[in-house]
Amino acid sequence: MTQKTYKHVNYNWDDAIAGQLDPVERLRYRSNILGDDQRITNTGGGNTSSKIIMTDPLTGEEVDVLWVKGSGGDLRTSTRANFASLYMDKLLSLQSIYDAAEVKGVKTEIEDQMVGMYPHTTFNLNPRASSIDTPLHGFIPYRHVDHMHPISAIAIAASKDQQQLTQEVYGQEVGWVPWQRPGFDLGLVMGQVATENPQLKGLIMGQHGLINWANDDKECYELTLTLIEKAAEYIAAHDKGQATFGGPKYQSLSAADRESLLITLLPQLRGMVSQQNRFIGTIHITGSVLQFVNSHDAPRLAELGTSCPDHFLRTKIKPLYVDWNPQTEDLAALLTKLETGLAHYRQDYAAYYEACKHPDSPPMRDPNPTVILIPGVGLIAWGKNKSESRVTAEFYSLAIEVMRASEAISAYQGLPRQEAFDIEYWLLEEAKLKRMPPEKELARNVVIVVGAGSGIGKATAHRVAQEGAHVVCVDLNEAAAQATAAELTNQYGLGIGVAGTGISACGPALGLAVDITDRASVKAMLNQTVLAYGGIDNIIVTAGIFVPPTKDGKISDDMWDMTFAVNVKGLHIVADEGRKIWEAQRLPGTLVLTTSVNAAVAKKGSLAYDTSKAAANHLIRELAMELAPLVRVNGLAPATVVEGSSLFPRDRVISSLVKYEIAFEESEDTEALRTKLANFYAQRTLTKSPITLADQAEAAYLLTSSKLSKTTGQIITVDGGLPEAFLR
Ligand SMILES: [Zn+2]
Repeated sequence: MTQKTYKHVNYNWDDAIAGQLDPVERLRYRSNILGDDQRITNTGGGNTSSKIIMTDPLTGEEVDVLWVKGSGGDLRTSTRANFASLYMDKLLSLQSIYDAAEVKGVKTEIEDQMVGMYPHTTFNLNPRASSIDTPLHGFIPYRHVDHMHPISAIAIAASKDQQQLTQEVYGQEVGWVPWQRPGFDLGLVMGQVATENPQLKGLIMGQHGLINWANDDKECYELTLTLIEKAAEYIAAHDKGQATFGGPKYQSLSAADRESLLITLLPQLRGMVSQQNRFIGTIHITGSVLQFVNSHDAPRLAELGTSCPDHFLRTKIKPLYVDWNPQTEDLAALLTKLETGLAHYRQDYAAYYEACKHPDSPPMRDPNPTVILIPGVGLIAWGKNKSESRVTAEFYSLAIEVMRASEAISAYQGLPRQEAFDIEYWLLEEAKLKRMPPEKELARNVVIVVGAGSGIGKATAHRVAQEGAHVVCVDLNEAAAQATAAELTNQYGLGIGVAGTGISACGPALGLAVDITDRASVKAMLNQTVLAYGGIDNIIVTAGIFVPPTKDGKISDDMWDMTFAVNVKGLHIVADEGRKIWEAQRLPGTLVLTTSVNAAVAKKGSLAYDTSKAAANHLIRELAMELAPLVRVNGLAPATVVEGSSLFPRDRVISSLVKYEIAFEESEDTEALRTKLANFYAQRTLTKSPITLADQAEAAYLLTSSKLSKTTGQIITVDGGLPEAFLR
């Protein structure tokens, strides 16, 4: 058989792979290769199914089972566990319960109640919850069904004359159903259309997407591609080229100008949209995004909002477009326009809520936009975390492609406002939100940990990440910083969503180099952080230096300077540059600086170090005054953490063991020797147990969190209890 060739989608079916798989795995395989192409479906969007004859574990008899992508997850990354399995006969029998209801139809109480019935039809105790799209697959009388959100099909579905276009593009093989909120009723409607029109291979779902079917899985896959290709070819033949979106009204800024504008703009903008909830940003700048934001039609089209319900849920009712001229107006003008634009947007949102709400609607949600469009610059998306803001950026950029295509073949129309509202405030959606675990202590926060390459800094990076923080791991040693960031990304996942330009395409953690004694280096690190996430919330500095005296116990002027440059001046530079961002954001933040119990305890052999730490203690108090009330500044004073510490290399550990006459073998590894020394030190403390990195990280986290929200200008010692280090 000759393989079909496609220009507008990727053909990825491989018989050699599919041939090895059982029917459920073939469905997983088909789903993965469909989800892999953004032109076929968006992240998290669409679903697939196969009806498979299986042996019933109860009766041993053969039964027909619907395997369908369940709630949550994503086609591209789905595994077998992402699919729900339901007895076909039981699923179909639910129709009698539905039909018996006095009031039925789209958006009726019984329709939502049917979702609660799906678990009763579960085959083989499969724990995956069924999605609301399950009946779309169950009632279509074919063995394999693909429901996708392809740009080209949504473009037809979101056009004014969508029914006529469907016929023009597909002739008799694809039908059309008007927009209807997905659910049990839509399943029945589509099942009936498919049954009554046996010539149909699929349907354009008004304002939504495409669904198609076949009795062979490979045939279903190829049909999906063929139908998308057909629409894409039709659209390509009508493409308006330079005249798309009414042609350009503005020109793009140069990459360098755009970057410097974003660095100044983003923290201020983040502060403006984060009045109710903090948001994490993603900048997304592609040729296509720029063509849209620079165009004559952008304000009109932006106002219409998105169409596909999947896109809409992230991008909200509409984006905020700011009519700013990048060629003639400056940043101050842009900020003023953003301020006014946001005020209008929130009013509009409240009016939309008031006009569309039902007596039982959940309370109004955050009225700020999640997508902001700026001519000459691009698209900025906001979400509760990096993953969500990346998905939002992806969805609006897909919506731009939908509008481009729809405006080429007809006129684009968004989802009607009431329909959009009934999805955004759907009680089922609200119930899903309520079932989600509460947000973690540092969720929605960007925390910079300076010194994250090793020791206390690394432990602290892990500790704050555990509380939901986005962590910028910073160290003089760039490779070490990146290694810590990679550990965090591996542990928490890169997140879904495929948008983000440059460093803004990052995940929940980032590794950067910095020399805190060099202001330009600190500035560059903060700029990268702003471009990655939109701003900062907390900074924790654990970096420090101990320069041992020479053999004759002397400290040279250079050693003195180096010690103070890192332990005092460096802390001030970080605070001073961080302050500019905090003040631009106008959101409360925290700064934690690491000093030492040596700040209070005079000791022989560490003159410069101890003096620098005493200065750092007072620096904390000065900064607490300077940065109030916006930023709390506190200090962490560790004592002799030997575990995994770069301040305790093997020879220093050995010389200490010798000094304190502690027995050891040369063959023991460094960590074992450190443990011996740590146990010895522990005996000198009031609490008598070794001081660990985790103990220090916990204190750094607590000072950063809201748990100590009334504490500033203080130093917490984590030293096991050393009476001579008591502050007084
Ligand atoms: Zn859908």
